Amino acid sequence: MSPTSRVAVIGSGIAGAAVAFGLASRGAGVTVIDDSMSGQATAAGAGIVAPWVSTSTGAYYEAYAAGGSFYPELLRRLAEFGVTDVGYRRTGAIIVDRDPGKLAEAAVLVRERAAAAGRVAGDVVELDPSDLRLAFPPIDREMSGLLVTGGGRVDGRMLCDGLLTAAVVCGAELVRDSVVGLTPSQGTWTVTTTSARIGVDAVVVAAGACSAEILARLGHTVAISPQRGQLIHLSLRGANTAVWPTVHPLGHHYITPFDSGRIVIGATREDGTGFDVRPTAAGQKQVLDDALSIAPGLADATLLETRVGIRPMSLRSSGLPFAGQVPGSPGLWLASGFGAGGLTMGPLIGDGIACALLGEPAPEIAALGLSPSPSTSA
Ligand SMILES: Cc1cc2nc3c(=O)[nH]c(=O)nc-3n(C[C@H](O)[C@H](O)[C@H](O)COP(=O)(O)OP(=O)(O)OC[C@H]3O[C@@H](n4cnc5c(N)ncnc54)[C@H](O)[C@@H]3O)c2cc1C
Repeated sequence: MSPTSRVAVIGSGIAGAAVAFGLASRGAGVTVIDDSMSGQATAAGAGIVAPWVSTSTGAYYEAYAAGGSFYPELLRRLAEFGVTDVGYRRTGAIIVDRDPGKLAEAAVLVRERAAAAGRVAGDVVELDPSDLRLAFPPIDREMSGLLVTGGGRVDGRMLCDGLLTAAVVCGAELVRDSVVGLTPSQGTWTVTTTSARIGVDAVVVAAGACSAEILARLGHTVAISPQRGQLIHLSLRGANTAVWPTVHPLGHHYITPFDSGRIVIGATREDGTGFDVRPTAAGQKQVLDDALSIAPGLADATLLETRVGIRPMSLRSSGLPFAGQVPGSPGLWLASGFGAGGLTMGPLIGDGIACALLGEPAPEIAALGLSPSPSTSA
């Protein structure tokens, strides 16, 4: 594929937006097609970019950590195209627990990870309950913390818009429509939407949890399934939440503060609910109970809104996303299965796919253990 190629990217969540920016900024012609599905994972994402405090392991952790380390470079590249604010801030990430012994155990691995990541992860600092309350005032008085100073958070919507804006500056075209068919023909592809047929040299399917269905129509089985995530946005008036760190108990839930008093708490991980994007009573109760169990100081916060997103979960045993060329279908590429880490990993892997598609050196891809031709089976 040459930089003069025309590529259709299906989906403009973080995966599609990152691929589109990667391609367009290298001179390729890009058409991004998105049907504005309700439940887009990117629009719901909590925005934590702190892989070093996560519970992930193995190859998935390596990809997650590489994604986190890519952020400074990503911001630099976006700034070249006039995009200077994507709601990203390194406010630190704190693991919290009532048992300092458990935190000391966690600290061994976190220190190793932070040292391997270098400057981007920053320092690892133990916080006693009073230090912790200075950093995050609503926290339970009995909690201690372990702070990783380089932990960050990003506004998924702003980042995605920023990538698409930069892609458009480089000549990409955005189409609001639904892709209903993909047809290969003599080395090229025809993308059929509800209102047009678009001829391209290559197609990147970055349709989140819908990617499996799109590929199934072409006879490819991809192990990606939808997982519902519900979270809640609170408002704490008068608090300088812009500098508060993200908070991570030793479990799956978390708290992500943003500017102007906005605090995100979440999230559920619901398998078997398909594409049902309703916030449920049980889901909302779980999110509130989890958050208040570690941060009772949020009890009087105002409920602003609920967001629900459908995570595209990779069912591979490694948990790694599907990123690369689809075997047996020349010119067909896949960027999906980012699960609970797409806002962190998506920009790096999307950029790697763009490089691989254009035949440019893509050292990040080798580092992530991906190849231009991964298997699409589990
Ligand atoms: C509640 C929640 C919290 C999260 N928190 C974090 C976090 O803190 N940190 C982190 O790193 N990650 C987080 N994630 C994960 C991250 O949000 C996802 O991994 C990522 O957004 C997936 O991006 P995507 O582009 O693959 O899919 P999506 O964002 O879902 O985008 C897919 C797009 O494809 C479009 N589409 C689908 N089918 C078609 C079609 N036929 N034609 C045209 N368009 C189509 C849809 O409209 C949609 O816009 C969270 C996710 C959720 C749900």
